[in-house]
Amino acid sequence: MSKKTALVLGGGGFIGGHLGKRLLKEGFWVRIVDIKGQHEFWDHEDICNEYVAGDLRDPRLVEKIMLSPFQNSKEDKDNSFDEVYQLAADMGGAGYIFTGDNDANVMHNSALINLNTAHEASINNVKRVFYSSSACMYPEHNQLDPDNPNCEESSAYPANPDSEYGWEKLFSERLFLAFNRNYGLDVRVARFHNIFGPMGTWTGGKEKAPAAMCRKAAESEAKIEVWGDGLQTRSFLYIDDCVEAVLRFMRQESFYGPVNIGSEEMVTINELAQMAIDISGKDIKINNIEGQAFVDKYGFKCPVGVRGRNSDNTLYKEKMGWEVNMPLLEGMKKTFTWINEQVKNSSLVASK
Ligand code: NAD
Repeated sequence: MSKKTALVLGGGGFIGGHLGKRLLKEGFWVRIVDIKGQHEFWDHEDICNEYVAGDLRDPRLVEKIMLSPFQNSKEDKDNSFDEVYQLAADMGGAGYIFTGDNDANVMHNSALINLNTAHEASINNVKRVFYSSSACMYPEHNQLDPDNPNCEESSAYPANPDSEYGWEKLFSERLFLAFNRNYGLDVRVARFHNIFGPMGTWTGGKEKAPAAMCRKAAESEAKIEVWGDGLQTRSFLYIDDCVEAVLRFMRQESFYGPVNIGSEEMVTINELAQMAIDISGKDIKINNIEGQAFVDKYGFKCPVGVRGRNSDNTLYKEKMGWEVNMPLLEGMKKTFTWINEQVKNSSLVASK
């Protein structure tokens, strides 16, 4: 068997769809597994050879899907999956992970998926596993100054993430690294910083800031609401750069991570909103919403997250000798064009 094989867990989602497409293009045989019955935006033949709709919290399912179609048994190391990408998680944007309402599900569901994946990947002798952690695992106390957030990999401890989502990511990073130490599972752990682009969630509460700003600019004629004072800073990485960075990291031999995969082009959320407005060509004002609306029923802080966050790519550049390069504006133009289409199509459907 010469064809390389890849398993993309959570491939029914945003990053997994793009990754599946790229792997197919490279000639891989690709299986996607996702709890969603189908990908929201892609036809399955564009992103995989086999799409399995199933719940990765179920260890029996994970046992089955971890066996490659060319593998005779778990012991058949030669034909096990060449590349496994663990992207499945119970997650969403600030409106989902920072309100407190979804904490138990986020922790329980994602931890089960990761526990099952690490265990089955190990006993199925898969050749390499990628785990997608998040910048949300970085300590809150290093991200209070919007102009100088510290997200260097080594700043992770003493740990103090600002959400249960971040705590679960930190736990699972350690889980995969422990499987590496104790069972020789070949792992690569990366911390994604706000990935965006077309073919991702753009409405419904789980969308991230770039998609939300593009949707609001596409829908509105007068003003768009931005949560908080809008002076909180973030950086955003376009999906194509993300996929490239993942594959380069996955296909080198010596460095396990954790490493940041993100952009170092930091902007305020108001600047991001203004960018979406400028791209839309409309005369729209930004309305910053602060105060009461941002204390949830548990007394949690407003769902705007930390004051500042930016990727620090020093380690990635040093180890990989490559860096991401698409300017935010270019990525936002592509994203706006796609979301604008979605908005038009959905208003056509609604008016029927
Ligand atoms: P996404 O929500 O679009 O994709 C995740 C997929 O996991 C979804 O399709 C979902 O249906 C699936 N899933 C959830 N529970 C499942 C279950 N029990 N069984 C099977 N499938 C299940 O998210 P994404 O943006 O593609 O992110 C991929 C990974 O990267 C996630 O682990 C996320 O935490 C991480 N990450 C993403 C970003 C980002 O900006 N997109 C930032 C940091 C980390």
